[in-house]
Amino acid sequence: MSRFFSEKYKKLVPYTPGEQPRDVVYTKLNTNESPFPPSEKAIKYAAIEAEKLQLYSDPTCKFLHQKLAETFDVSADEVLATNGSDEILNFAFMAFCDKNNPAVFPNITYGFYKVFAEINGIPYEEITLKDDFTIDINDYIGIGKNIFIANPNAPTGIALSVTDIEKIVASNPDNIVVIDEAYVDFGAESCVSLIHKYENLLVTQTFSKSRSMAGARLGFGIGCKALIQDLNTIKYSTNPYNVNRMTMAAGIGVLEDDDYTKKNCNIIIENRKYLEKELERLGFVFTESKTNFVFAKHPSYDGGFLYQKLKEKGVLVRHFATDKISDYLRITVGDSNQIKTLLTSLESILED
Ligand code: PMP
Repeated sequence: MSRFFSEKYKKLVPYTPGEQPRDVVYTKLNTNESPFPPSEKAIKYAAIEAEKLQLYSDPTCKFLHQKLAETFDVSADEVLATNGSDEILNFAFMAFCDKNNPAVFPNITYGFYKVFAEINGIPYEEITLKDDFTIDINDYIGIGKNIFIANPNAPTGIALSVTDIEKIVASNPDNIVVIDEAYVDFGAESCVSLIHKYENLLVTQTFSKSRSMAGARLGFGIGCKALIQDLNTIKYSTNPYNVNRMTMAAGIGVLEDDDYTKKNCNIIIENRKYLEKELERLGFVFTESKTNFVFAKHPSYDGGFLYQKLKEKGVLVRHFATDKISDYLRITVGDSNQIKTLLTSLESILED
């Protein structure tokens, strides 16, 4: 730390992203990327924009917002595209939370919520999950605080129903409820349709998982016009050109190619079922995942040990050395070759 680092950030513990190694080629099942390439339309549209990189991107994201609006059956002023969904989540903390409007989220969830609260000086409370890692919705009913819930949750993979989400949203009319649907396309229900009924609901999604565009950094939020206006105030006060030209065009391309996205999601769901069956055969237990990852533990082996052994064999998975989940591995559902490599490696580790 330099002696110039601001007092307000000295105690900040940054988010630790999953490893993105450059030295060895791993079977990479640690950051829930898609095993499939981006849509050809996305690549084609991005390449056209690459030739215009001397010009700034459109700060209003007009065409992308129109396409998102059409896709989700909302109007263009009810959506906001951002640099990954991480950015819109941070914007939501900045826009709606402060000393008098603290944030709550589950104690086991996406690790960035805590960091966004910390960096923005927002008081927060972490609500303990039930022993089976499910969310008890009663903990959030009429709580009178701003609520951030990943649905499905990460890294547990477990989803709440839209009915349960609606109960939370309806019971907290004077607070914002942010539903982070990063993994929703792999079998959970989206609550986007509720945004016309509840002015306190913001839904966020990403192009990083089901739409094979993690490297392009594109996310978005959907909420009522007034919420989107507030988020725009934050955007225009930090980085008006937050979505670059190539990403914006690629985003339109993949939305036009929805059959491709749906086909890939269905393959991942089938691969997840196969992976679960095989993990069960090897003695693993896991939560009920509605995502593109499986959260699994083996009763006889420590999570850290398995993570390390897999890494030595060239397979990267995610291990969180934190309380309550250190026995678990979060394994991205890859394509059939990746799954085969993972299973062969696990079999040889368990035989040793
Ligand atoms: N929410 C959850 C629950 C996630 O796991 C992630 C990905 N790490 C994100 C949001 C952010 O994804 P991105 O910024 O790539 O859209």
